[in-house]
Amino acid sequence: MSSFRNMFASTTAAVVGVFSTLVFCPIIAHAADDTPYYWDVQVSSQAQKDIIDKAGIEMVPAGPGKVTIAVDEAAAQALRDKGLQPKKKAPVYQSLPEQRRVPDSTYYGGYHTAADLLQHARDVAAKYPEIAMVHDIGKTWKAQQGTGGHTMDVLCLTGKGKPSSAQEQAPAAVAPNGCALSPTSAKPRFLLTAQIHARELATGELAWKWIDYLATGYGTDSTATSILDNTEIWVVPVTNPDGVDVVASGGNRPKMQRKNVDNSQTPASCSVVDGSGNGPGVDLNRNFTVRWGGDSNNPCSQTFQGPRAASEPETQNIQKLYASLFPDQRPKGGGDVPDTAKGVVIDLHSYGNYGIIPTAATPTNREQLRKLIKKAVPSNFIVGTDEETVGYSTTGTTDDQAYGALGVAAYTIEIGPNNGGSCAGFMPRYSCVDSTFWPQMKKAFTVTAQAAGAPYRQSATS
Ligand SMILES: [Zn+2]
Repeated sequence: MSSFRNMFASTTAAVVGVFSTLVFCPIIAHAADDTPYYWDVQVSSQAQKDIIDKAGIEMVPAGPGKVTIAVDEAAAQALRDKGLQPKKKAPVYQSLPEQRRVPDSTYYGGYHTAADLLQHARDVAAKYPEIAMVHDIGKTWKAQQGTGGHTMDVLCLTGKGKPSSAQEQAPAAVAPNGCALSPTSAKPRFLLTAQIHARELATGELAWKWIDYLATGYGTDSTATSILDNTEIWVVPVTNPDGVDVVASGGNRPKMQRKNVDNSQTPASCSVVDGSGNGPGVDLNRNFTVRWGGDSNNPCSQTFQGPRAASEPETQNIQKLYASLFPDQRPKGGGDVPDTAKGVVIDLHSYGNYGIIPTAATPTNREQLRKLIKKAVPSNFIVGTDEETVGYSTTGTTDDQAYGALGVAAYTIEIGPNNGGSCAGFMPRYSCVDSTFWPQMKKAFTVTAQAAGAPYRQSATS
């Protein structure tokens, strides 16, 4: 932590230096500007979408025949050169409240660093040993290279109350009530994973708040108590810590890194992350084994799928975690996962206000999951498949892995609107976490936890 803080302080000093230079030498202001903006682009044909896709840029739907992209001026110009007409919509960076401009261990007005997110999980386990414990789940890419990085953690929370059938079964080496890394558990499980895409800032914060709500609410808040007495809650607060280090290194101008930082495939031409988020790394949410192989082969692209399925250590760690927490509940020979299956997974992303059903789901399971998701997310969210929500297909994603390999009820949430304002986009003001996102996700996570024993058997009404 301390070395990170020092790095932060020197970065800030350097930025201040650059600004004062600009004041006295305006000519430098003409140097390449990688400030990211949101742009709306009319895309009336698939060919036009393909131009953006080939440029390695993620698209968020913005109404019929229109998408929003977050790129710098150079990337916008490259699209103009190919005949598209990106229209500047809003800056990615929000103005920050004055009192939060001095960096502490957080960045950009209050967001926690990867080290903070991981330390918080360990702190909660230390403070509440009767209901919480942490497991290491493996190293990040940088840690595997021996060049820094992180050990990834999952936090498990569960209450002292337990089903009567489990009274004699609690393993000795773990928290008194469960939380073993074994697919056999007395209580159904709900796993939340956050910030696999590093620049999706609010997602790690919402995992943090979910952890605190349950840990501090156990014994005082009847809903939190009931959830922990009847369920094991597992949380990976940050799935891409190396990427978040890159993001946070920008301080009040967080870098647009989406991917991990594996640069073993990266050509020199994109060796640094630019204002669009293109640069080194593999898109972890295109790297999972189930249905891998249909996304970008361009190492500079924001959606680079990696050289092979599960090539990345972070992906391997999460795949292993799924298999450690959930038995394979798929029927032999394929077909629908039976509606008696237990356990549920949410992978949290931003943005677009969507609840997304895994592409791998059978038609029957798809409709069952649609009911669950509709019950969980706010009524103004669009719930559906990739095609019904983001409008394009994806491969090698977390939810397809959990569902497709094990039959677990899994879905993706994209938090945050795409209609402008300070709470829209990848980098909303920190105050949006409390004012807007947490009330929405507190309900979504609660409903999902309560459904963990029978996620495929939810009624349509909430
Ligand atoms: Zn994402």
